[in-house]
Amino acid sequence: AETREALDVNQLTVAYGRSVRALHEVSLRVPAGGIVALLGANGAGKSTLLRAVSGTLPLHQGAVVSGSVGFGSADLTGRSAAQVVAAGVVQVPEGRRVFAELSVEDNLRAGRLGLVRRGRAEARATLDEVYALFPVLAERRRQTAGLMSGGEQQMLAMGRALMARPRLLLLDEPTLGLAPLMVERISETVQEIRRRGTGVLLVEQNAALALELADHAYVLEVGAVRLSGPAAELAASDEVRRLYLGEQ
Ligand code: ATP
Repeated sequence: AETREALDVNQLTVAYGRSVRALHEVSLRVPAGGIVALLGANGAGKSTLLRAVSGTLPLHQGAVVSGSVGFGSADLTGRSAAQVVAAGVVQVPEGRRVFAELSVEDNLRAGRLGLVRRGRAEARATLDEVYALFPVLAERRRQTAGLMSGGEQQMLAMGRALMARPRLLLLDEPTLGLAPLMVERISETVQEIRRRGTGVLLVEQNAALALELADHAYVLEVGAVRLSGPAAELAASDEVRRLYLGEQ
Protein backbone atom coordinates (compact mmCIF):
# COMPACT_ATOMS: atom_id res chain seq x y z
CA ALA A 1 0.00 0.00 0.00
CA GLU A 2 1.12 3.54 -0.66
CA THR A 3 1.94 5.73 2.30
CA ARG A 4 -0.87 8.04 3.31
CA GLU A 5 -0.14 11.46 4.65
CA ALA A 6 -2.01 14.31 6.30
CA LEU A 7 -1.63 17.90 5.11
CA ASP A 8 -0.78 20.31 7.90
CA VAL A 9 -0.94 24.04 7.36
CA ASN A 10 0.46 25.91 10.35
CA GLN A 11 0.10 29.60 11.14
CA LEU A 12 0.11 30.51 7.46
CA THR A 13 0.24 34.23 6.74
CA VAL A 14 0.33 35.59 3.17
CA ALA A 15 0.51 39.22 2.12
CA TYR A 16 0.47 40.60 -1.41
CA GLY A 17 2.86 43.53 -1.22
CA ARG A 18 2.68 45.84 1.78
CA SER A 19 -1.03 46.51 1.86
CA VAL A 20 -3.04 43.35 1.18
CA ARG A 21 -2.92 40.70 3.87
CA ALA A 22 -4.76 37.77 2.32
CA LEU A 23 -4.24 35.20 5.10
CA HIS A 24 -3.47 35.68 8.77
CA GLU A 25 -2.12 32.78 10.83
CA VAL A 26 -4.34 30.13 9.27
CA SER A 27 -3.91 26.56 10.49
CA LEU A 28 -5.75 23.61 9.04
CA ARG A 29 -5.40 19.88 8.59
CA VAL A 30 -6.53 17.45 5.92
CA PRO A 31 -6.30 13.96 7.45
CA ALA A 32 -4.85 11.26 5.17
CA GLY A 33 -7.46 10.32 2.61
CA GLY A 34 -10.07 12.76 3.99
CA ILE A 35 -12.21 15.39 2.29
CA VAL A 36 -11.95 18.85 3.83
CA ALA A 37 -13.96 21.82 2.57
CA LEU A 38 -12.82 25.41 2.68
CA LEU A 39 -15.68 27.91 2.65
CA GLY A 40 -15.78 31.68 2.64
CA ALA A 41 -16.97 34.71 0.71
CA ASN A 42 -15.15 36.12 -2.32
CA GLY A 43 -11.79 37.48 -1.24
CA ALA A 44 -11.70 35.50 2.02
CA GLY A 45 -8.38 33.95 0.99
CA LYS A 46 -9.38 30.48 -0.21
CA SER A 47 -7.45 30.55 -3.49
CA THR A 48 -4.47 32.08 -1.72
CA LEU A 49 -4.40 29.14 0.68
CA LEU A 50 -4.47 26.60 -2.15
CA ARG A 51 -1.74 28.48 -3.99
CA ALA A 52 0.43 28.60 -0.88
CA VAL A 53 0.14 24.81 -0.59
CA SER A 54 0.71 24.11 -4.30
CA GLY A 55 3.73 26.40 -4.62
CA THR A 56 2.03 28.74 -7.09
CA LEU A 57 1.90 32.04 -5.19
CA PRO A 58 3.28 34.99 -7.22
CA LEU A 59 6.38 35.32 -5.06
CA HIS A 60 8.22 37.22 -7.79
CA GLN A 61 5.42 39.82 -7.66
CA GLY A 62 5.85 40.50 -3.99
CA ALA A 63 3.76 37.87 -2.19
CA VAL A 64 5.26 37.37 1.28
CA VAL A 65 4.68 34.16 3.21
CA SER A 66 5.27 32.94 6.75
CA GLY A 67 4.20 29.79 8.54
CA SER A 68 4.61 26.25 7.31
CA VAL A 69 3.04 23.58 5.13
CA GLY A 70 3.74 19.91 5.77
CA PHE A 71 2.56 16.75 4.01
CA GLY A 72 3.33 13.67 6.05
CA SER A 73 7.01 13.97 6.85
CA ALA A 74 7.69 16.26 3.85
CA ASP A 75 8.10 19.98 4.48
CA LEU A 76 6.44 21.75 1.54
CA THR A 77 7.09 25.26 2.87
CA GLY A 78 8.49 27.44 0.09
CA ARG A 79 8.71 24.53 -2.37
CA SER A 80 8.24 25.01 -6.11
CA ALA A 81 5.11 23.78 -7.86
CA ALA A 82 7.07 20.87 -9.38
CA GLN A 83 8.42 19.82 -5.97
CA VAL A 84 4.93 19.89 -4.47
CA VAL A 85 3.61 17.69 -7.31
CA ALA A 86 6.50 15.29 -6.80
CA ALA A 87 5.56 15.10 -3.10
CA GLY A 88 2.06 13.91 -4.09
CA VAL A 89 -0.03 17.08 -3.85
CA VAL A 90 -1.65 18.30 -7.09
CA GLN A 91 -3.90 21.30 -7.70
CA VAL A 92 -6.73 21.50 -10.23
CA PRO A 93 -6.80 25.21 -10.94
CA GLU A 94 -9.94 27.34 -10.92
CA GLY A 95 -11.23 28.00 -14.43
CA ARG A 96 -9.88 24.57 -15.51
CA ARG A 97 -7.15 25.83 -17.89
CA VAL A 98 -6.96 22.84 -20.17
CA PHE A 99 -4.78 23.10 -23.27
CA ALA A 100 -7.58 24.10 -25.64
CA GLU A 101 -5.73 23.20 -28.87
CA LEU A 102 -4.63 19.75 -27.73
CA SER A 103 -6.66 16.55 -27.81
CA VAL A 104 -8.16 15.14 -24.62
CA GLU A 105 -5.53 12.41 -24.51
CA ASP A 106 -2.63 14.80 -25.05
CA ASN A 107 -3.96 16.94 -22.19
CA LEU A 108 -3.98 13.87 -19.96
CA ARG A 109 -0.47 12.89 -21.02
CA ALA A 110 0.68 16.41 -20.18
CA GLY A 111 -0.35 15.67 -16.58
CA ARG A 112 2.68 13.40 -16.35
CA LEU A 113 5.21 15.96 -17.50
CA GLY A 114 7.56 17.25 -14.86
CA LEU A 115 7.32 14.04 -12.87
CA VAL A 116 10.06 11.58 -12.29
CA ARG A 117 9.58 8.99 -15.04
CA ARG A 118 7.85 5.97 -13.66
CA GLY A 119 7.80 4.10 -16.93
CA ARG A 120 5.35 3.55 -19.75
CA ALA A 121 3.42 0.71 -18.20
CA GLU A 122 2.46 2.77 -15.20
CA ALA A 123 1.55 5.77 -17.38
CA ARG A 124 -0.71 3.54 -19.46
CA ALA A 125 -2.33 2.02 -16.36
CA THR A 126 -2.94 5.49 -14.91
CA LEU A 127 -4.50 6.67 -18.17
CA ASP A 128 -6.83 3.65 -18.07
CA GLU A 129 -7.81 4.46 -14.49
CA VAL A 130 -8.62 8.05 -15.44
CA TYR A 131 -10.72 6.82 -18.38
CA ALA A 132 -12.55 4.42 -16.06
CA LEU A 133 -13.32 7.31 -13.72
CA PHE A 134 -14.41 9.60 -16.58
CA PRO A 135 -15.82 7.45 -19.41
CA VAL A 136 -16.69 10.60 -21.37
CA LEU A 137 -12.97 11.38 -21.65
CA ALA A 138 -12.34 7.95 -23.14
CA GLU A 139 -15.11 8.49 -25.69
CA ARG A 140 -13.65 11.86 -26.61
CA ARG A 141 -9.97 11.02 -26.42
CA ARG A 142 -9.19 12.40 -29.90
CA GLN A 143 -11.36 15.48 -29.56
CA THR A 144 -9.88 18.97 -29.23
CA ALA A 145 -10.21 19.91 -25.57
CA GLY A 146 -11.35 23.47 -26.23
CA LEU A 147 -14.49 22.20 -27.98
CA MET A 148 -15.82 20.34 -24.96
CA SER A 149 -18.45 21.66 -22.55
CA GLY A 150 -17.48 23.38 -19.31
CA GLY A 151 -18.29 20.29 -17.28
CA GLU A 152 -16.26 18.03 -19.58
CA GLN A 153 -13.33 20.44 -19.36
CA GLN A 154 -13.58 20.31 -15.57
CA MET A 155 -13.42 16.51 -15.77
CA LEU A 156 -10.41 16.77 -18.07
CA ALA A 157 -8.65 19.12 -15.67
CA MET A 158 -9.31 16.70 -12.81
CA GLY A 159 -8.21 13.75 -14.93
CA ARG A 160 -5.03 15.56 -15.88
CA ALA A 161 -4.25 16.18 -12.20
CA LEU A 162 -4.92 12.51 -11.40
CA MET A 163 -2.35 11.45 -14.02
CA ALA A 164 0.29 12.53 -11.51
CA ARG A 165 -1.12 9.92 -9.06
CA PRO A 166 -1.60 12.47 -6.26
CA ARG A 167 -2.30 11.45 -2.68
CA LEU A 168 -3.92 14.84 -2.09
CA LEU A 169 -5.94 16.75 -4.67
CA LEU A 170 -6.49 20.50 -4.29
CA LEU A 171 -9.77 21.42 -6.01
CA ASP A 172 -10.56 25.08 -6.65
CA GLU A 173 -14.26 25.70 -7.42
CA PRO A 174 -14.87 22.50 -9.42
CA THR A 175 -18.60 23.15 -9.96
CA LEU A 176 -18.48 26.87 -10.74
CA GLY A 177 -20.89 27.66 -13.57
CA LEU A 178 -21.89 24.05 -14.24
CA ALA A 179 -25.40 22.71 -14.88
CA PRO A 180 -27.00 20.68 -12.03
CA LEU A 181 -26.44 17.34 -13.75
CA MET A 182 -22.73 18.11 -14.19
CA VAL A 183 -22.50 19.27 -10.56
CA GLU A 184 -23.88 15.88 -9.58
CA ARG A 185 -21.33 14.05 -11.76
CA ILE A 186 -18.43 16.05 -10.36
CA SER A 187 -19.49 15.42 -6.77
CA GLU A 188 -19.82 11.67 -7.40
CA THR A 189 -16.34 11.74 -8.86
CA VAL A 190 -14.93 13.51 -5.80
CA GLN A 191 -16.37 10.74 -3.64
CA GLU A 192 -14.94 8.08 -5.94
CA ILE A 193 -11.51 9.74 -5.84
CA ARG A 194 -11.61 9.55 -2.07
CA ARG A 195 -12.71 5.91 -2.15
CA ARG A 196 -9.55 5.23 -4.12
CA GLY A 197 -7.52 6.67 -1.25
CA THR A 198 -6.78 10.21 -2.43
CA GLY A 199 -7.49 13.07 -0.01
CA VAL A 200 -9.24 16.24 -1.21
CA LEU A 201 -9.02 19.85 -0.10
CA LEU A 202 -12.09 21.40 -1.70
CA VAL A 203 -12.75 25.10 -2.25
CA GLU A 204 -16.37 25.43 -3.28
CA GLN A 205 -18.84 28.32 -3.61
CA ASN A 206 -21.70 25.86 -3.24
CA ALA A 207 -21.49 25.52 0.55
CA ALA A 208 -24.36 23.03 0.77
CA LEU A 209 -22.61 20.70 -1.66
CA ALA A 210 -19.21 21.15 0.00
CA LEU A 211 -20.62 20.33 3.45
CA GLU A 212 -22.33 17.26 2.03
CA LEU A 213 -19.11 15.93 0.51
CA ALA A 214 -16.65 16.85 3.25
CA ASP A 215 -15.87 15.21 6.59
CA HIS A 216 -14.60 18.44 8.03
CA ALA A 217 -14.80 22.10 7.04
CA TYR A 218 -13.20 25.45 7.71
CA VAL A 219 -14.82 28.83 7.17
CA LEU A 220 -12.45 31.64 6.25
CA GLU A 221 -13.40 35.24 6.87
CA VAL A 222 -11.09 38.04 5.75
CA GLY A 223 -8.10 35.76 5.82
CA ALA A 224 -8.65 34.03 9.17
CA VAL A 225 -10.39 30.83 10.26
CA ARG A 226 -13.74 31.95 11.63
CA LEU A 227 -15.27 28.50 12.23
CA SER A 228 -14.21 24.89 11.82
CA GLY A 229 -15.55 21.49 12.71
CA PRO A 230 -17.14 18.33 11.40
CA ALA A 231 -19.07 19.20 8.23
CA ALA A 232 -22.37 17.96 9.65
CA GLU A 233 -21.94 20.19 12.70
CA LEU A 234 -21.19 23.26 10.60
CA ALA A 235 -24.14 22.52 8.33
CA ALA A 236 -26.35 22.60 11.43
CA SER A 237 -24.91 25.80 12.89
CA ASP A 238 -27.09 28.93 12.77
CA GLU A 239 -24.24 31.10 11.58
CA VAL A 240 -23.32 28.86 8.66
CA ARG A 241 -26.94 28.38 7.69
CA ARG A 242 -27.58 32.11 7.67
CA LEU A 243 -24.34 33.24 6.01
CA TYR A 244 -23.46 30.39 3.66
CA LEU A 245 -26.55 28.29 3.13
CA GLY A 246 -28.84 31.21 2.40
CA GLU A 247 -31.32 30.49 5.18
CA GLN A 248 -33.11 33.08 7.29
P1 ATP B 1 -12.45 34.25 -4.74
O1 ATP B 1 -13.50 33.27 -4.44
O2 ATP B 1 -12.97 35.57 -5.19
O3 ATP B 1 -11.32 33.74 -5.57
P2 ATP B 1 -10.80 33.83 -2.43
O4 ATP B 1 -11.41 33.50 -1.12
O5 ATP B 1 -10.19 32.74 -3.20
O6 ATP B 1 -11.81 34.63 -3.31
P3 ATP B 1 -8.25 35.13 -2.72
O7 ATP B 1 -8.31 35.06 -4.19
O8 ATP B 1 -7.32 34.23 -2.01
O9 ATP B 1 -9.71 34.94 -2.10
O10 ATP B 1 -7.94 36.63 -2.32
C1 ATP B 1 -7.71 37.07 -0.98
C2 ATP B 1 -7.31 38.55 -0.99
O11 ATP B 1 -6.05 38.73 -1.64
C3 ATP B 1 -8.29 39.44 -1.73
O12 ATP B 1 -8.34 40.68 -1.07
C4 ATP B 1 -7.63 39.58 -3.10
O13 ATP B 1 -8.02 40.80 -3.71
C5 ATP B 1 -6.16 39.60 -2.75
N1 ATP B 1 -5.32 39.06 -3.84
C6 ATP B 1 -5.41 37.84 -4.41
N2 ATP B 1 -4.45 37.66 -5.34
C7 ATP B 1 -3.72 38.81 -5.36
C8 ATP B 1 -2.57 39.27 -6.10
N3 ATP B 1 -1.96 38.48 -7.00
N4 ATP B 1 -2.14 40.53 -5.87
C9 ATP B 1 -2.73 41.31 -4.95
N5 ATP B 1 -3.78 40.95 -4.22
C10 ATP B 1 -4.29 39.73 -4.40
